[in-house]
Amino acid sequence: MHVLVLGAGLAGVTSAWYLKHAGFDVSVVDRQPGPAMETSFANGGQISVSHPEPWANPGAPGTILRWLGNDAAPLRVTPRADWHQWLWAARFLRECLPWRTRRNTAAIAALARYSRECLQALRGATELDYTHARRGILHLFFDAAEVARIPARVAELAAYAIAAEACDTARCLAIEPALAHMARPPLGGIYAPDDEAGDAKEFIDALTLRLKAEGVRFHFETRVDALDHQGGLIEGVRVTRPDGSSARLDASSYVLCMGSYSPLLVAPLGERLPIYPVKGYSVSVPIVAPARAPLVSLTDEARRIVCSRLGNTLRVAGTAELNGYDLSPDPRREAAMLAWVDTHFAGATDLDAAEAWCGLRPTTPSNRPLIGKSGLLNLYYNTGHGTLGWTLACGSAAALADLMSGRRPRPDFPFLDSRFG
Ligand SMILES: Cc1cc2nc3c(=O)[nH]c(=O)nc-3n(C[C@H](O)[C@H](O)[C@H](O)COP(=O)(O)OP(=O)(O)OC[C@H]3O[C@@H](n4cnc5c(N)ncnc54)[C@H](O)[C@@H]3O)c2cc1C
Repeated sequence: MHVLVLGAGLAGVTSAWYLKHAGFDVSVVDRQPGPAMETSFANGGQISVSHPEPWANPGAPGTILRWLGNDAAPLRVTPRADWHQWLWAARFLRECLPWRTRRNTAAIAALARYSRECLQALRGATELDYTHARRGILHLFFDAAEVARIPARVAELAAYAIAAEACDTARCLAIEPALAHMARPPLGGIYAPDDEAGDAKEFIDALTLRLKAEGVRFHFETRVDALDHQGGLIEGVRVTRPDGSSARLDASSYVLCMGSYSPLLVAPLGERLPIYPVKGYSVSVPIVAPARAPLVSLTDEARRIVCSRLGNTLRVAGTAELNGYDLSPDPRREAAMLAWVDTHFAGATDLDAAEAWCGLRPTTPSNRPLIGKSGLLNLYYNTGHGTLGWTLACGSAAALADLMSGRRPRPDFPFLDSRFG
C-alpha cells in the first residue's frame, strides 16, 4: 500500500521510517529544500522523558497572570483578532484542571518512555550518528519554594516509572562540575539519569539518507496546497512543484505531519485540529573553554530554558510566544538566551559567534499529540507534538505504523482510533 507523508520534520521522517519498516511503500513531500528545516531545525535537543507534565497545569493560570505585560517573561501572549487563538486559550485553561493535568501527564509519560525505547532500538539497528549523549538531564532550581517541592516531584515521576533523583547543591555539582563556575549555583535539582540529548536535525538528515537508500521517495521544494476529497476519501494532494507548476500526488493513504500548519490544510474538510503555533527561540553558541561548559543536559525550570551540549556547541532553547504564525525574531528574546549563557557559564562560549533561531511548536492545549485516524477514511494524523516533538518522535511514529497496520500500539495513550483509542 502506498502512503504519502505530508511534511518532513521529526514527525514526518520518523513516520516514513516506521511505515517503511512495517511494509508500506512510502513517499514524503515537503515545501523546503531538505528535511527538518522548520520547527525541527534547532530545538533544545533534549529527549526529556522526565518532563511529562504539560504547560497546562493547575499552577499555569496564576503564573501566566503574573507574567502578563512583561515582555521578558518566559511566556508572552499577544492577543489577536483570531477566534482560533481564543478558542485554543479557553481549551488550554480547561486542561489546567487537576484531573485533566494528571490524565495528560500519564499519557505523555507513557508515550515518552516508549519513544525513548524506540529511539534506542533504532539507534542500535542503524548506528546513526547525531551528536547524541546519554548523560541524563539535570533540572535546576534556584528558588527555595521550588526546592521544597523536589521530593513530591521525584515521587510523582516514580509513579510514572521515570527514574529521578533529588539532589542538593553538592550533588548537582558532582553530576555536572561546570555548575561550580556559576555565580549563583542551584539550590537543588532533579536528576533523570536515563534521559538523553542529541541534534534532531542531524538525526533527521541521517534518517532521510537511509530512507532514500531504502527506496522512499522525497519530493522537496513541493508545496502542499490542498487535499482533493470525495465521499470521505482523500483522492490526491494538490501541490506546487519547484518550477511553479501544479500537480497532483496520489497514494492509497495519507499521513499529515505538517506541524503548526496541519490545521490549515484540513480545515476546509471540516476537520478542526486544536493545534496553535507557540514560538520558541534557541541560540547555538560555539564552546571555547570545554571544561567550563556543561556536558549534562540542563533545564532551568523557572526560566523555562533548556541547554544541551551538542559536540562543540552549546544549544540553549526555550520561551514561548502566542502570536499566530509570526516568525519574526525578537532580539530581546535572543539577548535573554545569551544573557543566560553568560550568567551561568561565563567564558565557556564565544557569544559573538552565536547563531539564533526561532520556530513554531505545533501545540495542542493538553500538549498531547494527535496520532491516528482522522474523520476521513484514508487520512491519518501524526502531529501536534508541542514542546516534546523530539522526545516523542520515534514512539509516535512507531505507534502510527501499528495503527495503520491494524495492530494495537503498546503505550497506554488516547490514540485517535475507535478500535484502540
Ligand atoms: C525553541 C524550541 C525548543 C524545543 N526543544 C525541544 C526539546 O528539547 N525536546 C523536544 O522533545 N522537543 C523540543 N521542541 C519541540 C520540537 O522541536 C517540535 O515538537 C518538533 O520539531 C515538531 O516537529 P514536526 O515534524 O511536527 O513539525 P516541523 O518540524 O515543523 O515539520 C513540519 C514540516 O511540514 C512542512 N510543511 C508545512 N506546511 C507545508 C506545506 N503547505 N507544504 C509542504 N510542506 C509543508 C514544513 O516544511 C516542515 O518540514 C522544541 C521546539 C522549539 C521551538
